[in-house]
Amino acid sequence: MQQSEAEFRSLSENSPVGIFRMDAEGRCTYTNPRCQAICGYTFDEALGEGWLQFVHPEDREWLMQDWSQTLSSQQQFSAEVRYIHKDGTIHFAQMRTSPLSRTSSQLIGHVGTVEDVTERRAIEQMKSEFVSIVSHELRTPLASIRGSLGLLAAGVFKNKPESAQQMLDIATYDTERLVRLVNDILDLERLESHKVNLNKQWCDGAALLEQSVKTIQSLAVESQILLSVEPTSVQVWADSDRIIQTLVNLVSNAIKFSPPHSTVTLNVQEQADRVLFEVKDQGRGIPADKLETIFGRFQQVDASDSRQKGGTGLGLAISKSIVQQHGGRIWVESVPGQGSNFYFTVPILLNE
Ligand code: ADP
Repeated sequence: MQQSEAEFRSLSENSPVGIFRMDAEGRCTYTNPRCQAICGYTFDEALGEGWLQFVHPEDREWLMQDWSQTLSSQQQFSAEVRYIHKDGTIHFAQMRTSPLSRTSSQLIGHVGTVEDVTERRAIEQMKSEFVSIVSHELRTPLASIRGSLGLLAAGVFKNKPESAQQMLDIATYDTERLVRLVNDILDLERLESHKVNLNKQWCDGAALLEQSVKTIQSLAVESQILLSVEPTSVQVWADSDRIIQTLVNLVSNAIKFSPPHSTVTLNVQEQADRVLFEVKDQGRGIPADKLETIFGRFQQVDASDSRQKGGTGLGLAISKSIVQQHGGRIWVESVPGQGSNFYFTVPILLNE
């Protein structure tokens, strides 16, 4: 008997799930260590009605109402409750209870489990925020395409070929934007869920810069920007296509946010344990409080940047994901009004 009690105690004490027990009056008589860790109280603090002090004040009233209905009945109970820890952090706990009865009619209390769902909730929230931004971003060009094609279909511009052409131009522009958005969203999703295998090989840093410049040269010419490359031959162990994609993105941003006749400089150099890439512009710069946020999805310095400059707001998020998958870091330094310097590193791995 003693041995089986010790066994059960050890099961509960080491359980990865929080466990508690209430008597028939709803007073707490036991909590295991995991339960204490999730809810933020000690064994003694939880006893009796003590546990209630740790429930978020906004959850106390409804919880007590629902709980007191269950208390006297032989029902199961389930709720998601916020607990406030002594360090001020809020933990979301999924709690479930089942009645404990001696005979079918005699209730002697409830046994309950608690699971920490804080992280799961944060991920769900991020997901739903992302979905709502994406649907907004996709709907905007779609609405414009539908609008312009709708006017054409209705024959509004039957005798005005110039206006009809304008409508077609709008529809084409927004279709291209939509394609870019969908491609970027899918690319980012694949990168972040690690579904992309990097095809790493030794590449020449200078060749990567030159290839990127070739890809973006026509945009530079169109915008009257001089691209200057300072080629240094350094060997880098990387996925060349993905590094070029990152460089092209940084250079196209530099071009977009620079005045005509200014210079964008590309540079690569070897440092102690890494290769450092740099894209420098003489453009409008980035305010200090945006230096980190612009690497987030759909984050811009100005709400209108993306639409006016034809971007998707995902370029830097994709670049960051690519660089991080290489084990490197990406950041920007900038003096507003004078220009921005974007940097990223790729580690030199000796034993891969
Ligand atoms: P997009 O360029 O498609 O809007 P990005 O993720 O590439 O999206 O860039 C996010 C934002 O960061 C841009 O909208 C712009 O506000 C800012 N930004 C990026 N590069 C530069 C730069 N070289 N100079 C000034 N602002 C920049």
